[in-house]
Amino acid sequence: MSLRARAAATVLAAGLLAASAALSKPAAQVAVPPGAPAVHDIRPGPGVTAVKMLSEYAPGLAGTPGDTRVYVLDGKEPGATVFVAGGTHGNEIAGIVAAVVLVERARVARGRLLVVPHANNSAITDVDPERPGPPSIAVATPGGERRFLYGSRRTKLAHQGAPDPAIYRHPNPKADEDLPGTEARNLNRAYPGSADGTLTQRMAYAVMQVLERERAAVAFDFHEAGPESRLAWMIVANPKNLETAAVAILDLEAQGLSMKLEPSSETFRGLSHREWGDATAAQAYLFETPSPSMADDTKGVDFVNDPRLPLARRVGGQLASFSAVLAAYNADAPPDARAICLDVPTMAEVEKAGVGAFLR
Ligand SMILES: [Zn+2]
Repeated sequence: MSLRARAAATVLAAGLLAASAALSKPAAQVAVPPGAPAVHDIRPGPGVTAVKMLSEYAPGLAGTPGDTRVYVLDGKEPGATVFVAGGTHGNEIAGIVAAVVLVERARVARGRLLVVPHANNSAITDVDPERPGPPSIAVATPGGERRFLYGSRRTKLAHQGAPDPAIYRHPNPKADEDLPGTEARNLNRAYPGSADGTLTQRMAYAVMQVLERERAAVAFDFHEAGPESRLAWMIVANPKNLETAAVAILDLEAQGLSMKLEPSSETFRGLSHREWGDATAAQAYLFETPSPSMADDTKGVDFVNDPRLPLARRVGGQLASFSAVLAAYNADAPPDARAICLDVPTMAEVEKAGVGAFLR
């Protein structure tokens, strides 16, 4: 059976749903309190050619704690634009650190890479009431210890500009889930957002603007899930690019990493892989690695050096998935529409040398 045929079978097994875009109602204008965005110890590497702010794409974020840095890595040869978000959820540290490794380590030979390591830069300043964690985590590097803030799943309430509703239902008419009101502050329930809505809606809108204006061809959202969660070791793909994800999954399997595959739900709205892929030309993917920080009982658990799920294994899984999807994308693209990223470490390299070996 050819790789393509096996990929097609994997797509069928994952239950392909037809993609369809639906417009959501515009949200009401909200007065968001001003504030300075959190600044992080991120040390741009040899591939970084510019550093922008997300508010350059959406002025409604300027002067708010939701503004955040966009690292641009331009290749010498023209090609596809690739977008990466880490830190959609501030307590999913492998996603944040994998994005930082791309900023500090990767170079681009063809196309360009845009990386937002802290997509919700408000959530990173808060403590999650359900799973409180330390203010920061430490990663040992050859040059000394690096610290990364550890935050919450959601935008800080004081930054939002509006109280939580009793229940949150996404405005898309296809949405059929009533969520707790706190989920109004979950960036990954807010897409496509709105230009002058709550802070969470503004952040979502700004990311959509990046994808649209930069004509992103491939977009990734790096997440973590509880070790026992169905989502752990999962790639969620917009239905339109499910087959490319399936090719990547077979490639990862051959490397010894078993990732599951699921298409975006038609009725669970506001998620990156669903709305990015529906509303823009970008292929959209979300990765979930299992984090011991999101277990039911985190007492005494080391979020970085857990023996079963060390940060190195999780960051390696994120980066391997990124590389495998890009390789599958490139295999289908004409040469001048590819994106070639160099110096992205393999999972085996990160597991062997530790994450810190790939930070500056
Ligand atoms: Zn998440």
